Amino acid sequence: MTQLGTQSHPLRVAIIGSGPSAFYAADHLLKQTDLVIEVDMFDRLPTPYGLVRGGVAPDHQKIKTVTKVFSKVAAHPHFRFFGYVEFGKAITHAEFTDYYHQILYATGAQTDRQMNIPGEHLDGSHPATAFVAWYNGHPDYRDYQFDLTQERIAVIGVGNVAIDVARILSLSTEELAQTDIADHALEALSKSQVKEVYLLGRRGPAQAAFTTPEVKELDDLAESDVVVLPAEAQLDELSRAELERNQDKSSMKKVEILQSYAQRPPGSKNKRLIIRFLVSPVEILGDSEGRVATLRLVKNELYATDAGSIASRATDQFEDLNVGMVFRSVGYRGVPLPDVPFNERWGVILNQKGRVLDPATQQPLAGEYTAGWIKRGPSGVIGTNKPDAVETVSCMLEDVAAGKTLSPSHPDGASLEQFVRERQPNYVSFEDWLKLDSAELTKGQQQGRPRVKFTSIDDMLAALGHTETVEQ
Ligand code: NAP
Repeated sequence: MTQLGTQSHPLRVAIIGSGPSAFYAADHLLKQTDLVIEVDMFDRLPTPYGLVRGGVAPDHQKIKTVTKVFSKVAAHPHFRFFGYVEFGKAITHAEFTDYYHQILYATGAQTDRQMNIPGEHLDGSHPATAFVAWYNGHPDYRDYQFDLTQERIAVIGVGNVAIDVARILSLSTEELAQTDIADHALEALSKSQVKEVYLLGRRGPAQAAFTTPEVKELDDLAESDVVVLPAEAQLDELSRAELERNQDKSSMKKVEILQSYAQRPPGSKNKRLIIRFLVSPVEILGDSEGRVATLRLVKNELYATDAGSIASRATDQFEDLNVGMVFRSVGYRGVPLPDVPFNERWGVILNQKGRVLDPATQQPLAGEYTAGWIKRGPSGVIGTNKPDAVETVSCMLEDVAAGKTLSPSHPDGASLEQFVRERQPNYVSFEDWLKLDSAELTKGQQQGRPRVKFTSIDDMLAALGHTETVEQ
């Protein structure tokens, strides 16, 4: 048999998902000079780029320029994109194994973690991830309704997602109108009555998960003052000792910024973004119609755990915050893929360094890999996915050298394309995506915005002249 990875017998790889980890993996595979590799990337949406399109805040355009790197990868002659083709629905796991030597799952973390407190499911209590997807124009979330007639809103958690949500709720219409926020969100937010947004951290300022530029940027909000309570900005002895021991310059800077906010006299802008520390939600209480009315908080204190970290524990003091909407922003969570082993506890695909493991034997399954948030959990910035994807691709290359791959019955690109056409005639190629991209950019240019997004799959397909409808 001809050697795998040659011109006549290329290594065929399917990547499921098209976010940063998918593109970093494709890039590393296509850069190999001693192997001929063909990469097909699949996404359930017609559009590529995962959370760069659907997660990064619309006022953070600079971060989105990473897509230029990804579109260069897509221009490689051995790369193809099959958008609007859902793994497990349009094409099953078993069918993928008929066409590829290796499959790499890079589907990210598509849902959110819950807090498991009473009242979490009342009307007006939402996952922050849904709000993020809504304002970014994700087709699955465009019809969500958020009651922006409420004047006070709480965001639980102090990570970068929480700060994004609080900032978007606090930006003025003029500020939002310069971004690529979805039109429906721009319209709803321009009528918003929100006056106060609370960001609630369960530990202290030194343990806040948000990063320094994100907290510093809050100072630039045109219509909203940032408020931190002086008592909560104080460093306790445990945190001070830890920062000094670790010489943790970035956390020190963050605390310094928070303390500078705390020392300010009251501002005169018409909205307030209030960052609180050492409080945990214990219950969401509803009004007579079952809508969020009050968030009950317990005050916390910090202690050193046996493992050496600083954790929070409840005191016996409670506080009620009257808010009309609550966003929980306590982390994303991965969703299992059909027929792919999953670690329920961690919300990730069962894997070791990116090799998917057989749950029965804990040994690697030949030809199956994972990268990104669905491999390691929802942490890190976009760039963190590069070394993560390289680690997985190194395992893939080692396994090719050792002859451990799948044995597809149709290992050729033309057969696969034919098969996709049968299953999903409406699939979106990368060239199609470039047409959608160009239409969005042109519309944006006309309005003085970076882009105006398509938010409905039907509109995307109509713009491409793809008329045949297939239920996925
Ligand atoms: P995250 O950084 O893990 O933050 C989660 C927050 O939720 C933490 O403050 C955590 O507090 C808190 N939390 C967890 N469970 C809680 C509970 N039961 N009650 C109260 N608070 C709770 O997650 P994320 O904000 O979803 O962000 C995910 C990743 O994307 C992060 O790596 C983030 O940096 C990245 N991201 C980056 C940007 C950017 O670069 N601008 C933007 C968005 C997201 P503890 O620390 O006490 O656990």
